[in-house]
Amino acid sequence: MACYLGLDLGGTNVKAGLLDDTARVLAKISTPTHAEHGPDAVIEAMIEAGKTVAAHAGVPLEQIDAVGIGSPGPMDLDAGVIRDMPNLPGWDHVPLRDRIATGLGRPTVLENDANAAAFGEYWAGAGRDPKIHHLVMLTLGTGIGTGIIIDGVLLHGSNSLGAEGGHMILVPDGRRCGCGQRGCLEAYASASNTATRAIEALEAGHDGTTSALASLRRAQAGRLTAKDIFDAAKTGDTLATEIAEQTANYLGIACASLCRLFDPQMIVFAGGMILAGDYLFEMIREAFARHTWKLVKDHVRIVPAELGNDAGFIGAAAVARDADQRGRLHAPLTSRKRLTR
Ligand SMILES: [Zn+2]
Repeated sequence: MACYLGLDLGGTNVKAGLLDDTARVLAKISTPTHAEHGPDAVIEAMIEAGKTVAAHAGVPLEQIDAVGIGSPGPMDLDAGVIRDMPNLPGWDHVPLRDRIATGLGRPTVLENDANAAAFGEYWAGAGRDPKIHHLVMLTLGTGIGTGIIIDGVLLHGSNSLGAEGGHMILVPDGRRCGCGQRGCLEAYASASNTATRAIEALEAGHDGTTSALASLRRAQAGRLTAKDIFDAAKTGDTLATEIAEQTANYLGIACASLCRLFDPQMIVFAGGMILAGDYLFEMIREAFARHTWKLVKDHVRIVPAELGNDAGFIGAAAVARDADQRGRLHAPLTSRKRLTR
C-alpha cells in the first residue's frame, strides 16, 4: 500500500508521521526544532525525524511514495522556497523542499502549514465525508491561519499568498495586526488577541472591579489566556461574556464573508480555543446566521476540527498524497491545466 511522510515544522517542535493510504498513522514522533541553531540544523532535524519514523514503522525510505512539508512563513510554493520565517531566525530564501527531497531521497512537496492542516481535515478529519468537496478551515492560535479547499483543490493564488482569511480587514483603522495592517480578523478573534482584548478592557477600567478576570490576571502575573476568558464567560462573568461574544461575532461575520466568496459546504475551526466547545460554536453559528444569506444558512456546517495535535503532519502527508495522485510531484504546484485563450 502507498505511504506518505508528513513533516510539520513548528517554532517549538518538528512533528513527523508516516501514514498509509487510508490515513492510518503507522508511526509518529515529535522532536525539538532548536530554531536558534538556524535553518541548516532545523532541516537536519526534519530529515532525521523522517528517517526515524520510517524506521519505527519498519518502512524503508524508498517505499515512501512522497513527502509533504507543512511550514509557516511566506513562501514560494512553486519553487519550494521559504522566503522568510517571522519567528525563526536566519530563514531567508531557503530551498526547504529540495533540501528535504535530497536528504530523504524522496519526491517532496511544500505547503503552507494552515493550508496543510485544512487539507488534513478534508482528507481524514472533520471533512472526510466523501460528499464534502468545498471546505474552509480557520485555525485560532496566536494568529488565525486559513485554508480554503474548492473542488478538492487548495487555493494558493498567484504569489502563494491566497487564503489568508485571518487578514481580511473587518474594522477600518482598527487594532494593529502582526502583518502590519490594521483591523484584520486575527487582530480581534485569534486566541491571543481575545485574551489581549480582555486585558485592554481591564486596563481601561472596564468592569475591572467586579470581573473575575481582574483577580485571575493578578494571580497570573498580569497574564490571561483565551481559555481564562471562555471559562469565566461560562460562569456568567459579564466582561468575559462580552469579550467572548465579540470574538464569536467577528468569527461569525468572517464565516458569512467566506461563504459569499467560496460557498463552502463546511467551515472547520481548529486550535486550542475550540476546546471552549459548544459554548463558542453556538455563538459563532448564531452570529453567522445573523449575517449570512438565508439561502446559505442551513447548508453550511460550522464544526470543530478533529485531528488535534497530529493535524500538522497528517495534513502534510495529505498534501503529498494529493500531489502523488494528481501526478504533480514533479510539476510546479500551480501548473494546473488551463484553457488556451
Ligand atoms: Zn493582518
